[in-house]
Amino acid sequence: MAIHEVRLLGDPVLRRKATPVETASAELQSLIADMFETMYAEEGVGLAAPQIGLDLRLVVIDTNEEDATPLVLINPTILESSEETEKGEEGCLSIPGLKELVERSVRVVVEAMNAEGAGIRLEAGGLLARVLQHEVDHLDGVLFIDRVSPLKRRMLLKRWEKVRPQRAGRSGS
Ligand code: ZN
Repeated sequence: MAIHEVRLLGDPVLRRKATPVETASAELQSLIADMFETMYAEEGVGLAAPQIGLDLRLVVIDTNEEDATPLVLINPTILESSEETEKGEEGCLSIPGLKELVERSVRVVVEAMNAEGAGIRLEAGGLLARVLQHEVDHLDGVLFIDRVSPLKRRMLLKRWEKVRPQRAGRSGS
């Protein structure tokens, strides 16, 4: 297993619409293991493949709540989202240091393939519903800062210029 570098806001891979996964191959299983390892190392509750630079509709989630089980979702689709919404604080491993209230549906129904390639249907509320919407957004190139008011977004982007990690060995390349 290996921890991958998490791509940060500004990396074009985060803005692309990702391509569906065709088969749950052995290669995919090792990638899924890497994604969990990366997510846990970064203390995140979800990670989408584009965040480690991969053009794949693949997501791992572990909300770390009591009774939560780690989830692998291949080609997830949100079939239903409740009209009822609520605001909750979100952050993103690709935009470390920023947090903002984001309005999301309270409940969603998601269809996907699991790690074994079987079709699954999942109904979720609470934190899991929020994480599912956040991660599926990543597969469409959408970030949580796109889900706040233009004014809030401007403030977040200003703050990002100050807090964005300066990675060593990258200058001039
Ligand atoms: Zn994110």
